[in-house]
Amino acid sequence: MTEVGEKSRARFDLSMPVQFLKGVGPARAKIFAELGVETVGDLLEYFPRDWNFVPEPTKINRMQPNETVTIFGMIESIDYQNYRRQPLFEAMISDETGVCRIVWFHGAYLRGQLEPGQIIMVSGKVTLYKHQLQFTNPKFFVVDEEHQLSADYFSGGIYPACKGLTSRQIKRVIAPVLEHLDDLVSEFYDREFLKKAELISRKDAFAWIHLPPDEEKLLQAKRRLKYDELFLMQLGLALRRYKVQHFSRAVPCDCSDKIDSRIRKRFPFLLTRDQDESISEIVADMSKSEPMNRLLQGDVGSGKTVVALYAALLAVANKMQVAIMAPTEILAGQHFLSIERYLKNSSVKRVLITGGLTGRKRSELLNTISSGEIDIVVGTVALLQADIEFQNLGLVVIDEQHKFGVAQRAQLRKQTTPHCLVMTATPIPRTLAMTAFGDLDVSVIRHSPPGRGAVITRWVSRHDRQKAYEFIRERLKAKKQAYFIYPRITAVEQDSDVKAATDEWEQLSKKVFPEFNVGLLHGRMPSVKKQQVMAEFRSRKIDVLVSTIVVEVGVDVPNATIMVIEEADRFGLAQLHQLRGRIGRSDAKSYCFLFAETDNETAQNRLEIMTRSNDGFEIAEHDLRLRGPGEMFSTRQHGLPDMKIANIVDDFDLLMMARKNAFEMVSHDPMLTLAEHKNIRRSLLAKFGDAIGLADVA
Ligand code: ADP
Ligand code: MG
Repeated sequence: MTEVGEKSRARFDLSMPVQFLKGVGPARAKIFAELGVETVGDLLEYFPRDWNFVPEPTKINRMQPNETVTIFGMIESIDYQNYRRQPLFEAMISDETGVCRIVWFHGAYLRGQLEPGQIIMVSGKVTLYKHQLQFTNPKFFVVDEEHQLSADYFSGGIYPACKGLTSRQIKRVIAPVLEHLDDLVSEFYDREFLKKAELISRKDAFAWIHLPPDEEKLLQAKRRLKYDELFLMQLGLALRRYKVQHFSRAVPCDCSDKIDSRIRKRFPFLLTRDQDESISEIVADMSKSEPMNRLLQGDVGSGKTVVALYAALLAVANKMQVAIMAPTEILAGQHFLSIERYLKNSSVKRVLITGGLTGRKRSELLNTISSGEIDIVVGTVALLQADIEFQNLGLVVIDEQHKFGVAQRAQLRKQTTPHCLVMTATPIPRTLAMTAFGDLDVSVIRHSPPGRGAVITRWVSRHDRQKAYEFIRERLKAKKQAYFIYPRITAVEQDSDVKAATDEWEQLSKKVFPEFNVGLLHGRMPSVKKQQVMAEFRSRKIDVLVSTIVVEVGVDVPNATIMVIEEADRFGLAQLHQLRGRIGRSDAKSYCFLFAETDNETAQNRLEIMTRSNDGFEIAEHDLRLRGPGEMFSTRQHGLPDMKIANIVDDFDLLMMARKNAFEMVSHDPMLTLAEHKNIRRSLLAKFGDAIGLADVA
């Protein structure tokens, strides 16, 4: 095994395993690997989680009260006072200019460590106590031969450590590597850009993030490294997008005034401004020979289906077939029903493919699709991706509700190159729209159609449950309908406090609302049975629908104006908001009751936000803040590396700047083959590998 670390053997590069660094052997390399550090490159990007700044040493007679200072002094005397309420360890130290006192509360551990005659370095704030300057619980270390009289010992990064590897040990491994930054780090941008963007050099940034000379320089280092991280991510997205746009062809769709007015006649209402805007964006996309790749977002009930149907009819008018995909059979059925409503007496041929369809009937239907006879096919993603062939598929609409399936989109693209419209009911905060969905165009429906009654949300504690039941009884008597949502199907033994839909259904139907019809719906029921229960709820045969979260995915019963969510503290914000979207669909007032008892502060926060806001975007922003971008939306899940230093919420301005510059760079040099982009290209490939297809683009 060779050891590297001295300047004379500077020939090492970013891909070198850390094992060969000074102070690291096979055993320690394993621990480093647990921290995600395998190569010198990883090590350079293993950033401190915090930094210490120790001022230059001063003398005792120069100290001022309330200043943070560093001094060197000799211990004159020590005293441990454990008779006090707060035991303390006291030392008097002196230098050639004076004497001062140091106390450490609960300093028992210092006995045997500090002794008169030792030279120590002390750093911290001095305060005036009984007319004397004193340090209280300062940082310190005993100066011995090994440690020179230097403030560096305290200064610099504190690394995220783990068992078997302390921050200080990590620091000692990194320090010699920093001597070789000239060989290891190459600049991405020219001087002019750095100056304009007020960014320091990449090399300084790596040096200063690990060993910042002062706080100002640390900030500059952070800014530069954050920018680079965001820039590389955006570059990856820009390239991915470029590839889709330029290496696949779609059939352009014409939208004449005649086609437009014929489509609009299908809707028994005027479209909202947001719907109109989304439609013009979609029409512009579909008129190109690059496949559309658009995300349509808007709250449940905001009118996305109408927009999607417009796009579908536009494709049909251009003699193309359309596939509309939903995540579940219930939702697919729902889409089909609403399409039927709008397309009554239309010559457009549409079918719903269900799981129950088998044998001859199924193969006959598939034949009509592959012959091009059918215009619009509705079904679940699974069904439509299985074995269905289209004659000329021009548009795919994917309703993902709140489950974003980028993988599914990728899969579809292989089949053909239809235009693609993804709908989602989870409002995506702007930050995420630019990162996780950064390679899609986005249309937003922010305002729901007019004539929606207010939704009032209340967080109900145990004592008020009975009152809530009585209130609901009154609404039911007035012929309104209600949802009761539970976290699980049946009570599981190890978690028996979880209300279970099946058990509660008995309770509700027999004890609480015996005078009403209480129906049950859950995910494990056969699909025929589910359809039947839904139909009964829709036709008002069922007054109260007890359900697990299956109703989340697309049920449209405007007469249902009450929703009870049991154990609401177990649901996330996005989910609660989704569920609540099932009510408030008519002009009547709706009521959402969140039944929950919890001490958990985050859960309480969520419930409070729900009672305060009905705005999906506001809720999504809160969600992002409560949970952090990582948890809400793993970027890795989308083929992007996780962020090491940048934070898409806090560093939004840098993100915007990086995005603009990255997309500009790709539009000028789509393969990044220009000499001046060599270093960026290399870093990008190292980071993303082939995930962004840079290799096959070039
Ligand atoms: P989403 O798909 O976003 O959940 P939908 O398209 O299903 O929303 O629309 C929800 C309800 O609003 C439907 O009953 C639909 O008929 C109605 N709707 C949609 N657009 C309008 C509009 N512009 N004016 C009035 N009602 C509308
Ligand atoms: Mg819908």
